[in-house]
Amino acid sequence: MEQLGLLIGNEDHEATGGAVFDRLNPISGEVATRAAAATVEDARRAADAAAAAFPEWSKTLPKERRKILLKAADLLEEKGPKFVEAMGAEIGATAGWAMFNVMLAADMLREAASLVTQIKGEIVPSNRPGSLAMAVRQPAGVVLAMAPWNAPVILGVRSLATPLACGNTVVMKTSELCPRTHRLIVETLLEAGLPKGALNAVSNAPDDAAEIVEALIAHPAVRRVNFTGSTRVGRIIGETAGRHLKPALLELGGKAPFIVLDDADLDEAVAAAAFGAYMNQGQICMSTERLVVMDGVADAFVAKLAEKARTLVAGDPRKGDTPLGSVVDASAAQRLEQLIKDATGKGAVLAAGGRIEGTIMDATLLDKVSPSMRIYSEESFGPVVTVVRVGSIDEAVRVANDTEYGLSSAVFGKDTNRALAVARRIESGICHVNGPTVHDEAQMPFGGVKASGYGRFGGNWGIAEFTELRWVTVQDGHIHYPI
Ligand code: NAD
Repeated sequence: MEQLGLLIGNEDHEATGGAVFDRLNPISGEVATRAAAATVEDARRAADAAAAAFPEWSKTLPKERRKILLKAADLLEEKGPKFVEAMGAEIGATAGWAMFNVMLAADMLREAASLVTQIKGEIVPSNRPGSLAMAVRQPAGVVLAMAPWNAPVILGVRSLATPLACGNTVVMKTSELCPRTHRLIVETLLEAGLPKGALNAVSNAPDDAAEIVEALIAHPAVRRVNFTGSTRVGRIIGETAGRHLKPALLELGGKAPFIVLDDADLDEAVAAAAFGAYMNQGQICMSTERLVVMDGVADAFVAKLAEKARTLVAGDPRKGDTPLGSVVDASAAQRLEQLIKDATGKGAVLAAGGRIEGTIMDATLLDKVSPSMRIYSEESFGPVVTVVRVGSIDEAVRVANDTEYGLSSAVFGKDTNRALAVARRIESGICHVNGPTVHDEAQMPFGGVKASGYGRFGGNWGIAEFTELRWVTVQDGHIHYPI
């Protein structure tokens, strides 16, 4: 079986000592990928390679960076079938989800290419005569990029596209759950013409994650950290980055609320809720997890959504004939089963779904969920959505905000001014009126509040994260000094 190495300085390397780890196919249990298990020394070498490449890459002209990013976007699309195969084998994703990943990720590369001439400064009026004072943005240095497995191409590309566009070099620590998919992204960018060492990929065995990540954050050349993943690990990354005084961008978990007001178009709301709750088996950070429905429309809404959910059967994505694929592994399926059991044991009503066979789970709808149930507050990250019924707008807002998370949210109502007023009261980084909670565009400010993390990807906000802002002056030399 092919064994994937570490990509350091544009060369394939075995890990020191030749250690490897396996990622198993979540459905068949066969080895999907065998990849090098980096040592701490290997990780440091990758950061050294990125540091050595920084002086050259940070000076490239915008048009050169743009050309490479645009070429990478085209190459990524050409490699669509390879991504479908890798994502199917490593995470049990459907071909549709894989192709959507490739399409949006290619857009992200094109959007990053458009940023290369937007890294601007300012002239700031100075109180010193004869001084030209400038606020200048320049590349920060080596960026450490970490992305999860669930939307591996979108989030993998997001973790490195703006950093590279801004003239930084990158070490990507790939996910243990999809090392082949993540490495394909890095190979694509190297093929597009990135110079030696500008982008490096390090894979690691799951048990080594903590020490590898610590070593990379501590490396003196690493100046920015970006991590997309769970809140649990995000806290560790944030603490470590803080200890080393390195700014971090943390995109963490979510528990997105979706408020259905009493004047909502129920058919539109059901379509958006089903998409947001069940796309990619609910394994999206923006997935709709909590439907907060006003009493007057709750019976009708739940009946319509249950009917829709029953059509969303799950199956083996390799057969390609079902709307839902597999959840990521057996432990995720067991955790979901426990969450559902706990809720129904405490009075929740199973309105649709509930079938779990191995890692295959149908779209599931739980009605009449209350705070004593674990699923009321825990991120499910699976194809199950809960309904909490509320009697007023104030109660809807209170329930929507009754969570540690704050990434995405949605409000449905025909009176858009009224719905917008509700949207403005929700504590989340993102809110869509009459649209699903799952929605991503490369140029938008993307990020969360509360335990969903801090920092923003997208457009000028992404540039601010991955550049250093400096105060630089040119003075005329005729200065009167007091001593
Ligand atoms: P995860 O937090 O389990 O991430 C795993 C990563 O953390 C791996 O790279 C692993 O090597 C590393 N890691 C594990 N233990 C570590 C430790 N002790 N110290 C340092 N690093 C360690 O997340 P996941 O399962 O890959 O992804 C799922 C989560 O990601 C969900 O919570 C989801 O909501 C979130 N997510 C967020 C966004 C967003 O944009 N906000 C997008 C997608 C997913």
